[in-house]
Amino acid sequence: MRRQRRTKIVATLGPASSDPAVIEQLFLAGADVFRINMSHTTHEALGQFVTDIRAIEERYRRPIGILADLQGPKLRIAAFQDGATILKAGAQFVLDGDPTPGDASRVHLPHPEILAALAAGDTLLLDDGKVRLKVLSATPDRAVTEVVVGGRLSNRKGVSLPDTLIPASALTPKDRADLDAALQAGADWIALSFVQRPEDVAEARKITRGRAGILVKVEKPQAVARLAEIMELSDALMVARGDLGVELPLERVPGLQKQMTRAARRSGTPVVVATQMLESMISSPVPTRAEVSDVATAVFEGADAIMLSAESAAGQYPVEAVATMNRIAEEVESDPTYRAVIDAQRPAPEPTTADAIAAATRQIAETLDLGAVVCWTASGATAVRVARERPRPLIIALTPNPATGRRLTLSWGVHCVVTEDAHDTGDMVDRACELAQSEGFARPGQRIIVVAGVPFGTPGATNMIRIAFVPSGPA
Ligand code: PEP
Repeated sequence: MRRQRRTKIVATLGPASSDPAVIEQLFLAGADVFRINMSHTTHEALGQFVTDIRAIEERYRRPIGILADLQGPKLRIAAFQDGATILKAGAQFVLDGDPTPGDASRVHLPHPEILAALAAGDTLLLDDGKVRLKVLSATPDRAVTEVVVGGRLSNRKGVSLPDTLIPASALTPKDRADLDAALQAGADWIALSFVQRPEDVAEARKITRGRAGILVKVEKPQAVARLAEIMELSDALMVARGDLGVELPLERVPGLQKQMTRAARRSGTPVVVATQMLESMISSPVPTRAEVSDVATAVFEGADAIMLSAESAAGQYPVEAVATMNRIAEEVESDPTYRAVIDAQRPAPEPTTADAIAAATRQIAETLDLGAVVCWTASGATAVRVARERPRPLIIALTPNPATGRRLTLSWGVHCVVTEDAHDTGDMVDRACELAQSEGFARPGQRIIVVAGVPFGTPGATNMIRIAFVPSGPA
C-alpha cells in the first residue's frame, strides 16, 4: 500500500471515529498518524485505540503513527452561585482564592500559583477570549481586574494568560499519569500542550527517555518568543492555531504559521499545521473554499503534516474530511507552481556529513530524474535530513526498527518500510532495488539512489551514496 502524497495527514480520533472499522476507513482515506486527545480519553480507551491501530498496521503491513496529545496546564475559573454571570465592560471583577461560589463581582481562581504570578497590566482571556479582563492590582491571593470586553461567563470556563509567565510545569499530575499510560501503550509521539519554556520540554524528555518522539504544540506567546531554544529540544512542532489565536490576536496567526513552518524546515524539525483546517466539515460533507485554500497554503509551505481535530473526532463526516485533505494535498503537490515554492525555501545544508549526503542525494536524484531515494536508517535521522531537502522523488526509508518506521509517518515525503537490516553493501543495494520496485516507486531499468551508513548499525554514520539500476528481472 503506497501513497504518492508527500504531506502527511494527522487525524484525531474521538466519538465519531472510535469504531475500528471507521479507523480503518480513515487510514485507507489517507490518515498517516492518529492523534489521541488525552483531555477526552481514558487510559482504557487509549489502550483500545492502540490495539485497533496496530491491528490495521498488521493487516496492511504499513507503519502507522500514534500521537498522544497531553492536556497540559489548562486553567479554569471555579463556579458561580447561579451557574453563570454577566460581566459588563468597564466594571471591576475580582479573581480570588476564596472557594465560595462567585457572582457578578468575583469568582474563585483555583490556581494559587497563577494568582501569585499576576501583575498589574496583565491580560486575562476567559472562555476562548470571548471575555477580556485587565489586572488593575494584585496580591498573592486576590487580583482586581477591569472588564475590557464583557459577556456571559459560566462555570469552569478556561483562562488564558498571554502576558504572564506561569511558574508551573507544563506537565500536571494528570499529564504525568497520561504520559506513563501513553508510553506503556506504545505511543510513537507525545504532544506537549501549553509549553512556555525549553525547561518544559526537557522535563518531558527526562521521562520519555527516547521511547517516544516529543512534539511541542506552539500555542503560547511565551513559546513563540523562545521558539529556537524550544525547537532544539523538540522532535517535532505543531502550529496549534486554536489556542495560539486565543492568546495572540487572530490576525497574527497566519504570519506566525509561516515563520514557524520556515523555522522548522530550516532546522529539519517536522512541523504539523493544526486546527480548523476543514472545520465546516464537522457538519457538512463539503468544505468551504476558504478552508480548501487554508489546507493548500500549508501544503505549499512544505509543512510535514496537516491535521484534523473535531472534523475526524466528533464530526458527521470523518472519512470524507480525511479524503478531502488527501485530495487537496495531492492536487497541490502536482500543481506546476508547487516545486518552485518548495525549492525557494530550501535551506542551506549544515556542515555535517549527513547534510552533505542529503544535499548531494537531492541533487543527484534531480539531475538523473531517479525513481526513488532509498535511505537505510536505524534511528530515522538520515531520512529526516533527506526530507529537509524536499527532493523530487519520494524517500523510501528502510529500517529494522518498527518504532522508527512509525515515528517517520509524520515526516514529509517519507514512505517507511520495516525490514531486517542489511548484512553487507551488496545486500543493501539489492534489497533497496527490490523494495523500491515492490513498493511501486521504481520500475525495472529505472535508477534509484541508495543512502546508508557503513559500518551497519552505527547510528549517525550516514556516509554512503550509491546509484543503482533496478534490475529487469532474472536473466
Ligand atoms: C490547538 O489549540 O490548536 C490545538 C491543537 O490544541 P487542542 O486541540 O488540544 O486545543
